[in-house]
Amino acid sequence: MPISVAIVGSGPAGFYTADALTSSGDDVSIDFIERLPTPYGLIRGGVAPDHQTTKNVQKKYEKTALKQQVRYFGNVEVGRDLSLAELKDMYDAVVLAVGAPRDRALGIPGEDKKGVFGSADYVGWYNGHPDFQDLDPDLNVAAAVVIGVGNVAIDVARLLSRSKEELAATDLPEYAERAILDSPVKDIWICGRRGPIEAKFTNVELREMGKLAESVSLIKAEQLPDGVGELPERDKRLKERNLETLREFSARKADEKPKRVHFEFYAAPVEIIGGDRVEGVRFERTRVEGGRATGTGEFFDIPCGLVIAAIGYRSDRIEGVPFDDKQGIVTNQDGRVADGLYAVGWIKRGPTGVISSNRPDGVTVAEHIHNDFAGGAKGAKPGRKALEKLLAERKARVVSFADWKKLEAAEVEGGGGTRPRKKFTTVQDMLDYLDRNRN
Ligand code: FAD
Ligand code: NAP
Repeated sequence: MPISVAIVGSGPAGFYTADALTSSGDDVSIDFIERLPTPYGLIRGGVAPDHQTTKNVQKKYEKTALKQQVRYFGNVEVGRDLSLAELKDMYDAVVLAVGAPRDRALGIPGEDKKGVFGSADYVGWYNGHPDFQDLDPDLNVAAAVVIGVGNVAIDVARLLSRSKEELAATDLPEYAERAILDSPVKDIWICGRRGPIEAKFTNVELREMGKLAESVSLIKAEQLPDGVGELPERDKRLKERNLETLREFSARKADEKPKRVHFEFYAAPVEIIGGDRVEGVRFERTRVEGGRATGTGEFFDIPCGLVIAAIGYRSDRIEGVPFDDKQGIVTNQDGRVADGLYAVGWIKRGPTGVISSNRPDGVTVAEHIHNDFAGGAKGAKPGRKALEKLLAERKARVVSFADWKKLEAAEVEGGGGTRPRKKFTTVQDMLDYLDRNRN
């Protein structure tokens, strides 16, 4: 009997784990349990719609999904359709790969005003994620503030600044494309509480902001330090490149293009101002000492009708699993959570790192599973057969990988050859399509 493994979540971390397990030479049987009908996690629902080449990694994941040892159970949610305890009873090993899908709170007065969104919700909306397709953010605003200076903040600002021609090759859902193109927004602010050296964005993404068709990126020269200071050699090179790019932005003219993206550093948000709706953000000017921001007691406001906080993510607690509240992750030791229970990706490490950063987690957990089950405990639990029986008893509407391929083919066809795809944005639409196309 093979070692039965359930991987909960089919994002990059789940797929790298399945890939490592199926390449290990161990006799394994792997089942993905994914709450959405669609696989690939943030590759589909996070990575920006104008970065299609990044999304190509899913072709590699598909090869793993099609391996003979692997089965996909889409539209099955742990916590809704079955409990983790039930899954642990059925499988030798359970791997949590559920990511960090919630927004971190700003923790400042006024953040519940209308027009204030977290990036998890807002990015989910423009990526057609079923949980957020009806978010309906009002983009009928002259100015928007993005809080945070990571790559997600850049994604959000860039998508708001794109021209009609630039958006035409994306897989933005129609509702999001229409809202962006109809928006009268002219000024977009990207605000960091520390300085340009401490910013988290990477240089390729920053440079792209200098090449937008209808938006010019700007920064006040006085916000740029003379040099990057003492840093390890690799960091130094990366930060120097960012500084060089920002210097170019400081020489640009505000009226070069119809829209402006303003980089504003040393600006810690202290309050969202306005009535029922947001009318602006109040910031405290900071200075950075030893990498830490300290308030100077000087305050200023940026008027705006839309705020997107791109300040990072947090994971959900999972019933019966030890959780580290401070770090917002499942308590684990190098991926081990408890006997037969493991964690990989953002639920294991927290919400940082690019797609490939999740690969080592998968490799490590595959090694743990190899070591833990090599000694005879192998194949002790029924795995797939028991899952299929339970889901049938509960009349769960399972979406298989073959079903997903049908949905994908329909999406690609809907793209009409000019766009990568036209996404289904509700689970019901996906299920209805599958019902109409049963064979
Ligand atoms: P996820 O990708 O979030 O996958 C988790 C999966 O678990 C999801 O499919 C979810 O539906 C499923 N799930 C959750 N709960 C349950 C449950 N209870 N039952 C069953 N299934 C469940 N990196 C890059 O290299 N390039 C980029 O351009 C890039 N863009 C990004 C853009 C955004 C907005 C964000 C937030 C991140 C971006 N990243 C990018 C980082 C990259 O996406 C992450 O490193 C990676 O997705 C984390 O993988 P994961 O598998 O841990 O989580
Ligand atoms: P991130 O890189 O950690 O950036 C978060 C930003 O929010 C930082 O600037 C942080 O500032 C700021 N912040 C946090 N709390 C704040 C608060 N209370 N008030 C004001 N600012 C606050 O996170 P991310 O942008 O969400 O990205 C997540 C991961 O996905 C990253 O590893 C990223 O590289 C990756 N990603 C990659 C790409 C790509 O490769 N193209 C695209 C998107 C995402 P401090 O530094 O001061 O805390």
